[in-house]
Amino acid sequence: MIVIKTPSELDAMRRVNRITARIRDELAALVRPGITTLDLGNAAGELIRKAGGVSAFYGYHGFAGQICVSVNDEVVHGIPGPRVIQNGDIVSIDTGVCYEGFIGDTAITVAAGEISDENKRLLEVTKASLAAGVAKAVVGNRLGDISHAIQTVVEAAGFSIVREFVGHGIGRDLHEDPQIPNFGKPGRGPVLKAGMTLAIEPMVNIGGAKVEILEDKWTVVTKDGSCSAHFEHTVAVGLKPEILTLP
Ligand code: MG
Repeated sequence: MIVIKTPSELDAMRRVNRITARIRDELAALVRPGITTLDLGNAAGELIRKAGGVSAFYGYHGFAGQICVSVNDEVVHGIPGPRVIQNGDIVSIDTGVCYEGFIGDTAITVAAGEISDENKRLLEVTKASLAAGVAKAVVGNRLGDISHAIQTVVEAAGFSIVREFVGHGIGRDLHEDPQIPNFGKPGRGPVLKAGMTLAIEPMVNIGGAKVEILEDKWTVVTKDGSCSAHFEHTVAVGLKPEILTLP
């Protein structure tokens, strides 16, 4: 069942997502060669605490980080740790915050130092695919319109969409209905209604779409070792899409 948020619940979603977006951007600004992914995790813990929230990810099914940090061929769900970020790496930061009982969720992939032209294009295409999906989050469209818009941008660029992990409804819970695949047919699935809040999050690989999970039981990596990017916004469906994860 897809939860329709009341006006006051939407206001709470605006507040938590604005905070989450600010923290995302502050963390992105810290990314540079020489720091560890745990440095980012620790900074996130401090920023979330100062904002009066708690991490929406820490302890989720036993996840041991304040945020997810995924480098290069790591797609999503990287656990902050001793890995040192190198010049040329791309670093995905997924931030989830719980505040006033509601959850904000947003992700960005950024360059550490000077990255390859191919990785630059990966970041641009993934960001553009998110924008195309978000643009379809309007009243009267169907869920498949979002999925199809994302897939179209990614595949036109010659990249692959990860299929095993998808976007989701969000609100009081991190993962609510519906699931939002980043591929699919237009005109299919539930009709979008005002007050739905959706976390839209394409995960895009330079190489093949296949992924696997490392022995830590969390980190998702591309099977072929190619680089992967991840951008995510939490959006309220309306007559126009309202991106809640803007700072
Ligand atoms: Mg998410």
